[in-house]
Amino acid sequence: MKLSKDFYLEEFVSSPTATRHNIDNEPSPSVIEELTKLCVEIMQPIRNYFERAVIISSGYRCLELNTLIGGSKTSQHMKGQAADFHINTISTATIVDACIKLSLPYHQLINEFGRWVHISKCHQGSEPGKQVMTAVKQDGKTVYKRGQYA
Ligand SMILES: [Zn+2]
Repeated sequence: MKLSKDFYLEEFVSSPTATRHNIDNEPSPSVIEELTKLCVEIMQPIRNYFERAVIISSGYRCLELNTLIGGSKTSQHMKGQAADFHINTISTATIVDACIKLSLPYHQLINEFGRWVHISKCHQGSEPGKQVMTAVKQDGKTVYKRGQYA
């Protein structure tokens, strides 16, 4: 099922972890609706800007999957409102820069360890949070710092 010009539902739902643990990560119609908005408003503009494949490492996560991988209890991944992704040969800092420059309606934009980018769309009816963060490891623990290149 196509969500936007270059994105398919499957990319946001398939999870090797879910498969391995026999978790049914099937999205509800409302989750599919949110994923579609995420693609149209955010992911497709990123794809168009770089003109390169955007590789989704994590999109929708049902509660069971989110809990298993240690996701935040309020993770927008559970609502189909967030995606983790990378683009080959483009640094995560460059991607974060572009998302800001393009004025995408993101709620949170996180450079995760320089390895992938987490982006979420704003909640229904709310203004985009436009929160930019950088995740780093300090003494083996994940620390979220405000801003870029922290
Ligand atoms: Zn994420």
